[in-house]
Amino acid sequence: MLRLAYNLEFADLYRREGLVKLDAHFLDFLSAADAALKERLLAARADPSALAQKDESKLLLDLAPHLERFLSQLFGIADEVLALARKHDELGPLYTVKRQFVQRRAATKIKPAEAEGFDGSALRRELTELFGNRFDELTFATHVDAWMKDEAAHARELDLALKYAAWALHTPAGRRAHHDGVLFKQPAKTDPYNLLLHARRETENGVTTYRIEPDHLRRREGFKLTDPGTDLTGALDQANYCIWCHNQGKDSCSKGLREKAPADAPQQIVFKKSVFNVTLAGCPLEEKISEFHTAKAHGLPLAALAIITVDNPMAAATGHRLGNDALKACINKKKKPVNIPQP
Ligand code: SF4
Repeated sequence: MLRLAYNLEFADLYRREGLVKLDAHFLDFLSAADAALKERLLAARADPSALAQKDESKLLLDLAPHLERFLSQLFGIADEVLALARKHDELGPLYTVKRQFVQRRAATKIKPAEAEGFDGSALRRELTELFGNRFDELTFATHVDAWMKDEAAHARELDLALKYAAWALHTPAGRRAHHDGVLFKQPAKTDPYNLLLHARRETENGVTTYRIEPDHLRRREGFKLTDPGTDLTGALDQANYCIWCHNQGKDSCSKGLREKAPADAPQQIVFKKSVFNVTLAGCPLEEKISEFHTAKAHGLPLAALAIITVDNPMAAATGHRLGNDALKACINKKKKPVNIPQP
């Protein structure tokens, strides 16, 4: 049976008076941890319109770690939340090494033609020995992360890892070997006029048909999604692929891709259009996508969910993915847009 802290009952969460009590407990909790932050929250509540968008984002993210702790105490799930935060932490090297080593070094320093000449299996065997007889993407990332902290002392190891990464990225055999992983991937380029990437085009008697490659065939069963979604590794991959544009006020996924306002009407909002003339207005709920990705990537999943819930209280019922409008308006126009924030 669920027991809430602060002598609250579950039904309190559904009653205004209960929520007022809950809020008072949260403010006390916050005040004990950071009195100045509590004052910022109260000032924002008193006059929300006085808060610039960037300040609102900052306030939410400053509150995030406190809310995470408060919720874990409220629901008596501190151990579980800590274990989940540790899992987020453990996966961290995957995303730093992907960006700093795989994408910035291996992808650019070694050309595909050179990578074709590498013996991926032999490189993998050597690395497996260095990793203490195991090989998986997280082990690779954790070791490379450590080696990069003292490159001079690990020049040979890093050279092996660089060659393996280039092989995994650039060659068909390497891509097959890491098809289900996240580490050895580059953001796929998108061409709006060629979106059916996995379709085979055939023309017979003047009639063009498209047939999906068998590997990509997904049957729809009822109203269920046609794929199983992703796991924590995949979700964090997306949260870290996101460039957290709210910091520059450019989170078009949420606010829409905007044209420059006319000089004589600086408040006017004019949205850009896609090549197919679709208005790129972003998420209709203006969910704070950039902010919740930031919280998630920093190991604060409860706070991330809370940030979603501010704009979409029905998130639990309406789904766990970024909507099509948000995807289309993502700033990554020539590359695959940021996708799923689940689980
Ligand atoms: S989802 Fe796209 S537009 Fe939105 S913050 Fe991330 S990178 Fe920027």
